[in-house]
Amino acid sequence: MAYLLEYGLRRVESERPELGNDSRYLELKDQLLRDAEGHFREIQATYATVLKTQCHCGGQLEPVDHDFGMSGGTIYDSVIAKCKSCGEAQAFQFPKEGFISEARSAMSLRDYLQTTYGIDYASAVKSDLQSRAAGR
Ligand SMILES: [Zn+2]
Repeated sequence: MAYLLEYGLRRVESERPELGNDSRYLELKDQLLRDAEGHFREIQATYATVLKTQCHCGGQLEPVDHDFGMSGGTIYDSVIAKCKSCGEAQAFQFPKEGFISEARSAMSLRDYLQTTYGIDYASAVKSDLQSRAAGR
């Protein structure tokens, strides 16, 4: 995610070099990169917890899936781990703070680029990735 983010920002900056002198843009970008880094650390910490946790049978847990959704108005985001020995699954909830701050910062930056420069940051990144995936 952080890679995608930096890649997208570099692309936008190379198309619009004047962004380098826009202090509001640089401020929003710094905030977003900080929040993305914080979110990434939370994800890493959750995975580390999964790997340190033993199943009740004494087996080793292994992350196998990711579950994301909404339940009763609350966003949940968890990693599903399965025991290598008995196959029992357990869910580990990710902290929500990092995800929410990153999403909020990403929206602020996107809105700013859209209203000030008319740049559609999200779809620019998406179409670029699609053309790369298609091998063009
Ligand atoms: Zn087990």
